[in-house]
Amino acid sequence: MRELAEARDNHRKREDLSRGRRGLLMVNTGNGKGKTTAALGLMLRAHGRGLRVRLFQFLKHENARFGEHRALDALGIPHQGLGDGFTWRSRDLDNTAALAQHGWELARAAILSGEHDLVVLDEFTYPLKYGWVPWAEVQATLQARDPLLHVVITGRDALPELIACADTVSEVQPVKHAYQAGIGAQAGIEH
Ligand code: ATP
Ligand code: MG
Repeated sequence: MRELAEARDNHRKREDLSRGRRGLLMVNTGNGKGKTTAALGLMLRAHGRGLRVRLFQFLKHENARFGEHRALDALGIPHQGLGDGFTWRSRDLDNTAALAQHGWELARAAILSGEHDLVVLDEFTYPLKYGWVPWAEVQATLQARDPLLHVVITGRDALPELIACADTVSEVQPVKHAYQAGIGAQAGIEH
């Protein structure tokens, strides 16, 4: 029974590939606001098309309950916070690095599981930039993934190697931000 299902699945994949469907590697980088929210918007679009979507957030604490987490729960989209709740400027860098490595193991397993159509690695540029997760390992995993799996990576300072490898790269440039005018973070806009 299982073999039959697998054969059907492989046949469907071959048909999808011959019709031009491809799994894309997309990167949202730059110093402006909108990288994570653009990835969330893409998740919404993909979910609406019946794609199996999953989000890993490398900086957010596992208990974070931001607006997007509430909305994802309502839609039944799995998401996981893998960070220590602080930022990449966190003081306890050993712990931050260990968390990032553990998070990468989970994300890697999901990428190779064949159970998703879109996997988002939010703020994953930082573990790459600081060398907590080796680029060679990430590249090998991306190359080994199902050819129909879409992957999105967000965060500032994307490695040139990642940019070279990606299919679509967007760089968000800050023109102005409300913070600079002394306006604090707004619920539903920043978190
Ligand atoms: P968002 O989650 O709103 O899409 P982002 O993912 O592009 O933002 P990050 O670099 O992850 O931005 O930073 C997250 C937080 O920092 C957000 O609350 C965002 O409003 C704020 N932020 C982003 N860019 C700037 C900027 N140029 N100046 C000040 N604050 C910023
Ligand atoms: Mg972000």
